[in-house]
Amino acid sequence: MSEKTELSPGRTEGSLATSCRRLIARTLTRTLALTLSGAMTASLAMTGLSSPLQAQGAKIPLVRDAETEELLRDYARPIFKAAGIDQGQVEIILVNDKDFNAFVPDARRMFINIGVIMDAQTPGEVIGVIAHESGHIAGRHLVRLREALANAQIMSVIGMVLGAGAVVAGASQGAGGIDGSGAAMALSAGSIGQRSLLAYQRGEEAAADKAALKYLEMTGQSARGMLKTFERFADQQLVASKYTDPYALSHPMARERYASLEAAAAKSKYFDKPAPPALQARHDMVRAKLIAFSSHPNAVARVYPSSDTSLPAQYARAIAAMQSRGRGALKDIDALIKQQPDNPHFHELKGQTLLESGKPREAIPSFQRALALRPDEGQFHIWLGYALVGANDKSLLPEAERVLRAGLVRDPNSGIGYSQLAIALGRQGKQAEADVATAQGLSMSGDFEGARRYAARAQKNLKPGSPAWLQADDIVAYKPPKLGR
Ligand SMILES: [Zn+2]
Repeated sequence: MSEKTELSPGRTEGSLATSCRRLIARTLTRTLALTLSGAMTASLAMTGLSSPLQAQGAKIPLVRDAETEELLRDYARPIFKAAGIDQGQVEIILVNDKDFNAFVPDARRMFINIGVIMDAQTPGEVIGVIAHESGHIAGRHLVRLREALANAQIMSVIGMVLGAGAVVAGASQGAGGIDGSGAAMALSAGSIGQRSLLAYQRGEEAAADKAALKYLEMTGQSARGMLKTFERFADQQLVASKYTDPYALSHPMARERYASLEAAAAKSKYFDKPAPPALQARHDMVRAKLIAFSSHPNAVARVYPSSDTSLPAQYARAIAAMQSRGRGALKDIDALIKQQPDNPHFHELKGQTLLESGKPREAIPSFQRALALRPDEGQFHIWLGYALVGANDKSLLPEAERVLRAGLVRDPNSGIGYSQLAIALGRQGKQAEADVATAQGLSMSGDFEGARRYAARAQKNLKPGSPAWLQADDIVAYKPPKLGR
């Protein structure tokens, strides 16, 4: 997907000139990718921001999507509760990768590939993975990984989860600071993906299975989906490793283990209980969305042919149309809205379509509607702020600033939130505050040096002790970890 076609990372210098070159390069690359591949990346797909570590390590391409994240949180909430994991302790982070994989590098973050959802026909298949991973968290099976990470001194890098509300095809916004809204983390030596670090011990696997079954039982859910997911990993033990899902490598599944899991699962009185229809319906929509955003329109048409009149199929086709025809998709999107006027994600999609086809002002009402339906969604705030800034109307800037600040409070991992806020502030003549916002965004992307430069410049023009000055001071004082390898 995007990661392979996107810009290869530059060394992060953080100077304005470098940033601009990077922006332009990214925009161009995106355009190229759109041209070549029929628009696979436009909104969901996020790409890597560069970071000093990238030369040494792999990137994990992250992706932000309010609808998907909300569904995963709803899947996880009861499981976390059953596992005794504090609400809010574990952040679920979506990885823009179609391979089946999920991992927990520490007790605070669970990474889930979009491939997990795309492969899953039922919520239970995803919930089973979350339950198993929760078993690893609750059982504190991460010791070796944590030690290895501490050795590499890259824990803080894992902390830099970048995010963004959106990617906008650059043309419409001119040089308006579109930073590709990249989301990626750079990890030393590709460590995170390596089985040596991530592979659990046999005993830990069995313990996580047992815990997962317990959590499913406590929450009145069937383990059937988990079995379905794990069965294929059991089979993968037999094939060459290059055809194996990454998840199967880090969670070795011996046939015997699968057999004992199956026997235990079947004893549950919930074994034949299906997922609630409303949850299955949301799952089907998110799956359609992810398939549509990450696949070529021809592939979408194969999975969701026009003979399929279900809502998920309509959703997938509307997104595919948006990717290939931009505003040509509006008719399809309006048809979705007509069927579910209160679905905020349909309004979001409409706003995104307008924004990305160079009509930011027309996008404003759609994002306002989405936000009215989900007043606490940080990503909707940021979308709206983005459109308000893009409208290029001075009178809208104070509102843009307010909305973006509100969005960043709710979703501090939004790279595009900071870059748009910087523009909104700069255009209002609040240059020092704009520098602070830029510094925050750079800091989040791992460009500590660039962040410090902006923050230091801001401090000279801010009242010492003021909130903005203090934010800048935090960035100036921050000492990034050294990679001692
Ligand atoms: Zn495992």
